[in-house]
Amino acid sequence: MSSILITKSRVLDPSQQLDLQADVAVSQGLIQQIAPDINPHGFDQIIDASGCLLTPGLIDPHVHLREPGQEHKETIETGTHAAIQGGFTTVCCMPNTAPALDSPLLIQGLIARANQTAHCRVFPVAAGTINRQGSHPAPIHALADAGAVGISDDGDAIFDSSVMASVLKACADVDLCFMQHCQDPTLTRNASMHAGEIATRLGLIGWPREAEEIIIQRDLTLNRSVGCRYHIQHVSSAGSIDLIGTAREQGQPVTAEVSPHHLNLTHEACAAPDGRSFNTNAKMNPPLRQQADIDALRHAVADGIITVLATDHAPHALHEKQQPFASAPFGIIGLETALPLYAQALIATGLIDWPKLIELLTINPARLCNLDRLGLGSMALNSPADLTIIDPNLTWTCTEDQLAGKSTNTPFIGETLTGRAVTTIVQGQIVHTMLPIHQSGQPSL
Ligand SMILES: [Zn+2]
Repeated sequence: MSSILITKSRVLDPSQQLDLQADVAVSQGLIQQIAPDINPHGFDQIIDASGCLLTPGLIDPHVHLREPGQEHKETIETGTHAAIQGGFTTVCCMPNTAPALDSPLLIQGLIARANQTAHCRVFPVAAGTINRQGSHPAPIHALADAGAVGISDDGDAIFDSSVMASVLKACADVDLCFMQHCQDPTLTRNASMHAGEIATRLGLIGWPREAEEIIIQRDLTLNRSVGCRYHIQHVSSAGSIDLIGTAREQGQPVTAEVSPHHLNLTHEACAAPDGRSFNTNAKMNPPLRQQADIDALRHAVADGIITVLATDHAPHALHEKQQPFASAPFGIIGLETALPLYAQALIATGLIDWPKLIELLTINPARLCNLDRLGLGSMALNSPADLTIIDPNLTWTCTEDQLAGKSTNTPFIGETLTGRAVTTIVQGQIVHTMLPIHQSGQPSL
């Protein structure tokens, strides 16, 4: 295993409150030293990261890798290729596969498959109910033993309150977070976008904010006596922020994540520029909402109410998205474009700084999924050398041929973005780089 020296970067590790100009030495797959001016003699590979940030490897706790069962959309191999291009060294994959990840054997199979084909670390989130149907709790103790790092029926909320209470209790027993996809199915029948003037103009059934808020309210009530670590996925509504903020103030163990698209786009993205046709690459679940929601979500990050960022990377084939809006599937890809979109929404607006953003992308998702216990999300000495080098000023245009995953369903194609992961290192191996690497013995050193 080669040794790597990364020089002259701004080292940001929120897990240790580190923010300094320094070199970082890696060997045996571990972080060995962080100090100014480390002697470069003897390192196999040297990367000059002047002008860049060096951070713990980014962690995305919410992606869809579509394996098993929907390999025409994405595979573990292609999805993790997209991840490393975007600077992610760890992804947690959702269980709404075919079959759903609801048994220890399926969890073990997913982990074995990832060990064979993944470009970065993959940890599975297991289903909360059998076949994600919401009627019978899955064997959560056994799923935890098999390696699940969280429990979720993502794609659907667990709607039956009695089943939900059992699942929360089981998650609390094994100290796994429960990640809720907050959607009341009775308020969203046949709905395909935010209930507002654009839905009316396009003749589509609207999806109200209340569909999200009602589930959050119910779950916070159920969880009061249980105390499970309850996590709200892809929050979209300003009203949800009020509920989460109040619960956090009361000391409830509730966390929430927000996606790059909910921080940057309104429901207007669903309409094409002519105002009459539509763009299915802006069809999401939950739907894109209005500017007041975006403002509330951004401020919730700045105020510490939202503590995790997650892409909800959701690949779909072209022919699936090329359908009438009401029948096209929900979701967009997000791994390659996430970092600049977070920066655009949160840093360019002056709401937070880079150390804060990196905290929401490293140690916070690590703690959510107990990955901090493996040393992930941190650059503490002797922790795994999962690292991301970010050029915060690099401007680039997102084009289809730059996307490493299998699908290209994103409304951000053609957008000029600022900030990019220029090197990704997983367990001491450089798996993606746009920077020159000086091999040992080169006279330029
Ligand atoms: Zn979801």
